[in-house]
Amino acid sequence: MDEAAGNLAGALNGLEEGLLLVVTGAGVSSASGVATFRGSEPDAVWKQSDMSLATFDYFLRDPVGQWQWYLQRFEALKAARPNAAHQALVSLEKWQRERAGRFRLVTQNIDTLHEEAGSEEMIKVHGTCDRFRCSRAGCSLGSPTGSLPRDEVDLSAFVSEPTRETLPSCPVCESPLRAHVLFFDEYYTEHQDYRFAEVEEMAMAADLILFVGTSFAVGVTDLFLQCGSRRSIPMYSVDPAASRFPQWARLIALQAPAEELLPAVCRQLGIGDS
Ligand SMILES: [Zn+2]
Repeated sequence: MDEAAGNLAGALNGLEEGLLLVVTGAGVSSASGVATFRGSEPDAVWKQSDMSLATFDYFLRDPVGQWQWYLQRFEALKAARPNAAHQALVSLEKWQRERAGRFRLVTQNIDTLHEEAGSEEMIKVHGTCDRFRCSRAGCSLGSPTGSLPRDEVDLSAFVSEPTRETLPSCPVCESPLRAHVLFFDEYYTEHQDYRFAEVEEMAMAADLILFVGTSFAVGVTDLFLQCGSRRSIPMYSVDPAASRFPQWARLIALQAPAEELLPAVCRQLGIGDS
């Protein structure tokens, strides 16, 4: 562990004013009790429920069923609190900013744990669980730019009696609301909040990419791996599971839990309160 932390701390130190790009996946939140989507753990979400539930196609066929499934996930997220990995990433961001370096966090997670911990330069490329949007594209509260805060939506009628009539509806056009997240059958360019153009820019501009708790199973990690490999920049992956990134990627795997390794890196750099 100390050797891995020292290795990463050395690379971060050498980065100086360059752009540090951190890419997080479900693994960063697992120590907070959030089930991972594709992990090997027995509570991984996709072991329990079919991946086809998180699609726009399913929403169109059975909006009541999808809302019920989605609200169940919300309940599971409610009790979660940021862990030492989230905190360490906040410390790294501050440290990088203080030495006039650049920093950006791209998260695939829809939970709000990075924000709660205090991360600032952040892109939520798969959307967020604390907002909804109108399911009608072109509505001012729907794609490509609109959404509304979750706490402005009254879910009580639906929760007590889930039917098509009680579905949460858009305050502008009365179409059913939907989750403000990227479904598996949708594109990153679907909504402005995913900030995908910026994500592509980051992939081309990063001087070091640090992957944390990502399973490399979705498109956006491939983009980073390809750009990073082509540009021969240092790339690290922190994940307690055996590495699942493709063979061609030039990436250094640090096999350790993020909530232990990242605070150790901060200690080696003499930053944060850990
Ligand atoms: Zn609407």
